[in-house]
Amino acid sequence: MTDLKTIGVIGAGQMGNGIAHVSALAGYNVVLSDISEDALANGMQAIERNMARQVSRGQFEPDAMTAAIARIKPTTVLKDHEAADLVIEAATERREVKEQIFKSLCEIVPASTFLATNTSSISITRLASVTDRPERFIGLHFMNPVPLMKLVEVIRGLATDQQTYDMAIGFAERLEKTTTNAEDYPAFIVNRILVPMINEAVYALYEGVGTVESIDTAMRLGANHPMGPLTLADFIGLDTCLSIMQVLHDGLADTKYRPCPLLVKYVEAGWVGKKVGKGFYDYSGDVPVPTR
Ligand code: NAD
Repeated sequence: MTDLKTIGVIGAGQMGNGIAHVSALAGYNVVLSDISEDALANGMQAIERNMARQVSRGQFEPDAMTAAIARIKPTTVLKDHEAADLVIEAATERREVKEQIFKSLCEIVPASTFLATNTSSISITRLASVTDRPERFIGLHFMNPVPLMKLVEVIRGLATDQQTYDMAIGFAERLEKTTTNAEDYPAFIVNRILVPMINEAVYALYEGVGTVESIDTAMRLGANHPMGPLTLADFIGLDTCLSIMQVLHDGLADTKYRPCPLLVKYVEAGWVGKKVGKGFYDYSGDVPVPTR
């Protein structure tokens, strides 16, 4: 089995800091990078807050938390990934951003370094093709919030080799995650099914079928979902939801995947969900309040 020691994580947002969190707890050295100093500081704070919550629930000892935090090196310098055995990209869901990251990364890391992306929807084969090692490239799609959610979708690109696949499975198992294989088609399995449902909920709001609260209550109590689709959209990030719909629409060329104009409008307004304090709900008070 491939012996990984150092994991690089690019992007310290909600997913990147979660991946750094679980990797450090599993004993790996982690280099966590972001282009934004603020995002990096917020990411490290989130890791400390989330680990402290786990300690207070008795999931592990405070010493384990201290040791895990000490294993994470935050940085804004991409070159600091040069010693990584596996680099997982978890930056903003835009193809140009990810392609640029991988091109720059290939000039830094040794030929033996495995590359992975946490993309929710973008073709693994396409991202792999901008690198110098498509056979050592794979999709590792974690779920949000990473420390709580058990699943990692594993997606092979056209060129991904068996050693890379075995490495990915071994890594996910060490993080105590369950893996499922998805083929490299737009949005893979989870988001192929989940995000069109969210988009449909936004259409229901747009057409006045229900209010924010009635749509969420209907799906929570009527379909037994743990949270309503608009709450879930805020949680995922409306920018990410919109990007996924665009990838589905472009990639499958079917009008059933057209993004709801209201979803576009929320993203244009910058109301992209919980991460900015406002989306379908306003999160500034004690309880979330619908924004319209
Ligand atoms: P986010 O907006 O919380 O974080 C993205 C981070 O990437 C930001 O901190 C940003 O500063 C950073 N970034 C942007 N360009 C960069 C660059 N060139 N180099 C380094 N860092 C850069 O987004 P997120 O929700 O954490 O999503 C990250 C990725 O994970 C996306 O590909 C998304 O599709 C995927 N994903 C998201 C979810 C979810 O529920 N939000 C679930 C699974 C996968």
